[in-house]
Amino acid sequence: MKIGVLASQGAFAEHIAALGELGVEAVPVRLPRELDGLDGLIIPGGESTTISKLMLDYNLLSEIKNLAENGLPILGTCAGMIMLADKVPDSRVEPLGLMKIGIRRNAFGRQKESFETELPIAALGEKPFPAVFIRAPVIEESDEGVEVLARLKDGAIVAARQGKLLASAFHPELTGDLRFHQYFLNMITENGESGRESTAGERR
Ligand code: GLN
Repeated sequence: MKIGVLASQGAFAEHIAALGELGVEAVPVRLPRELDGLDGLIIPGGESTTISKLMLDYNLLSEIKNLAENGLPILGTCAGMIMLADKVPDSRVEPLGLMKIGIRRNAFGRQKESFETELPIAALGEKPFPAVFIRAPVIEESDEGVEVLARLKDGAIVAARQGKLLASAFHPELTGDLRFHQYFLNMITENGESGRESTAGERR
């Protein structure tokens, strides 16, 4: 299995390291040709206005959109989640528009720009996930077909899945807990639809 990590800007090195720890080949993606032969793609956190601009400048936006429409699994974290959405009320961000979700950027305001919380995510098992939020967005609305995977205590949606697309408002690459990445790998190999070889382990 080979996973690409969009390396235009942001926290890509940490995702590559997390995948390495799970024994999966991970490669940085900066150019459209580097998308060839991938079994999955991660769009990391960073600054969505910058990631959006670089995706357009390097002709990545339409290429990634095409691949996703043909079944390429994608994990978007934080700014990456913003890029997956179809509604982002900021004209500087041109998202991929793949997930039927509406986003509020920087949803936690100045007092709470960054925080960590023990987040219950049933799909990962009983133990809560140490979720790190950094100037994080939330999902304000989600359409049919979107499975909500996690909410904060106030009800804000912070992780969701739609088919082979997975999104988190937090940064799963910044803690030693690899369960969210493992969930993404399982998602890629489930139904035997994709993946040249299965290294993703057992499904829960
Ligand atoms: N605040 C950033 C944005 O709106 C996202 C922050 C992050 O990815 N950690 O793009």
